Amino acid sequence: MFGAGQPKRSGPMQLIFLFSSAVITLILFIYLITHGVPWTNFEVILLSIVTIVMIGSIVGFIFGAIRTYCWRTSISTNPTPMTQYLNPPPIGSSEAEFQNELAYNHLLQNLMGPKRNYSSDVAKFRKIFDQSQRVVALTGAGISAESGVPTFRGDGGLWRQHQATDLANPEAFERDPSLVWQFYEYRRQLVATKSPNNAHLTLAKLQKKVHPTELVRQEKYLYIVTQNVDELHSRAGSRAVIELHGSMFKTRCTGCKKVKENYNNPITPALANITEIDEKKIPRDQLPHCELCNQLLRPHVVWFNESLNPRDFEFVVELINECDLLLVIGTSSLVHPANMFAPNVARRGGTVAEFNLEPTTKLKKSFFFPGPCGESLPKIFPDA
Ligand SMILES: [Zn+2]
Repeated sequence: MFGAGQPKRSGPMQLIFLFSSAVITLILFIYLITHGVPWTNFEVILLSIVTIVMIGSIVGFIFGAIRTYCWRTSISTNPTPMTQYLNPPPIGSSEAEFQNELAYNHLLQNLMGPKRNYSSDVAKFRKIFDQSQRVVALTGAGISAESGVPTFRGDGGLWRQHQATDLANPEAFERDPSLVWQFYEYRRQLVATKSPNNAHLTLAKLQKKVHPTELVRQEKYLYIVTQNVDELHSRAGSRAVIELHGSMFKTRCTGCKKVKENYNNPITPALANITEIDEKKIPRDQLPHCELCNQLLRPHVVWFNESLNPRDFEFVVELINECDLLLVIGTSSLVHPANMFAPNVARRGGTVAEFNLEPTTKLKKSFFFPGPCGESLPKIFPDA
């Protein structure tokens, strides 16, 4: 069935095996010690077999731990979505069963590393995609990185010696709005020079096939839920894009809270030619201000320690609760919010398909397509 990458053993089984062989060995040892030498051939053979099984289990367990360590290291150096650092908002269904499932999955990840339960069978996946009525594509930093958009995450993720986490938070903006605006203006100007890649374009074309007009029908759709703030999906021609983390090309007034699109380059004359090297001190009155109430504007993005827009999130949860197929593209399926979405879809009998450099999925009956998504998506959908 799901032949490619199927695990040779399952995590809990291995633990049970290890535990029971330890108990049997212990009982045998106690028996042999109390029984005294000389042992019979039968006893020696029995002890040898159990010892070999025991050593095998320990080696397997150590191997699993090393694999987990390597896997976690690779996760921590890969771009991660911003909401990983936020308190996960409650998902639509909050039953104890679902929480247990998450806790169980979490335990498994920590003990055994990801399970390899996925298939990479393109024909089988295409059949499911073509039959699916409601599809959600969750995209993350990986898809933007393929367009050359820096993520400022992981190793070397510094901007002017600052960690992105130290700049993209409300306290930093309160303390030094000039510095935070320079960070965002630098990124805005950089993204303006980048183009959507083949993954963005394939998704846009697929959307046009599924719902050719602006109007998205309830019974058949392909929604894009993105964690990226660069608007590359809409620039690729996508409709029905939910920007879970907002957009760098929108501003929000710190006074009247009005959200407005802003594609000015530079956004304000004082923020022209921002480089990664020159530190500028821009007076507050020369930073972007609201036309209506003259208060300071801020980028309309979800920062660390901030919650997602509840209306957007509720809508996404609704989509997740009814979709047939979830595509996880350029983001780990193990971190929030994909770790909430993917098990939910799988639990209802839906399909999860991941497009990443490394597999992170560990759900039964899921798909994984390796490599850059700008290559894998057009290959799977040559007819898009
Ligand atoms: Zn205002």
